[in-house]
Amino acid sequence: METGVSEAELRHLRRCVELARAALEAGDEPFGSLLVGADGTVLAEDHNRVAGGDRTRHPEFALARWAAENLSPAQRAAATVFTSGEHCPMCAAAHGWVGLGRIVYAASSEQLAAWLSELGVPPPPVRPLPIREVVPGIEVAGPAEELADEIRALHRRYHSTL
Ligand SMILES: [Zn+2]
Repeated sequence: METGVSEAELRHLRRCVELARAALEAGDEPFGSLLVGADGTVLAEDHNRVAGGDRTRHPEFALARWAAENLSPAQRAAATVFTSGEHCPMCAAAHGWVGLGRIVYAASSEQLAAWLSELGVPPPPVRPLPIREVVPGIEVAGPAEELADEIRALHRRYHSTL
């Protein structure tokens, strides 16, 4: 079952949206993510870097790799990944493989698919499965409806400038 998003979590999600905006301003797809430790410290952050042609350079994948290199298994399990858009199956799998903990997303894959469809964007080559279809048993919270309009506007801007 999906769980709600707290005020403190919303603050981290707002940072993810800022990172998504930074990605857009750098000519990339507007997605941003944070890795937050058990004590609430932001350990790492990233945004999409697919503009160079490598379509696997999603921030959630980069954070999973960063966690594998820099955190113990216990630290990874206690960490939370915040992200502007729900993990794609590739990133959910990376998250599961490295044993990260909770995920909090601002916009769901279902919302994103609906927004992109409205904009006439062709469907992606990878099916946008919900995280728990890929990583059963993981704790997931989202979407945060407070941020939906802002994220939708970022995607509209990205696709209108292509
Ligand atoms: Zn991804």
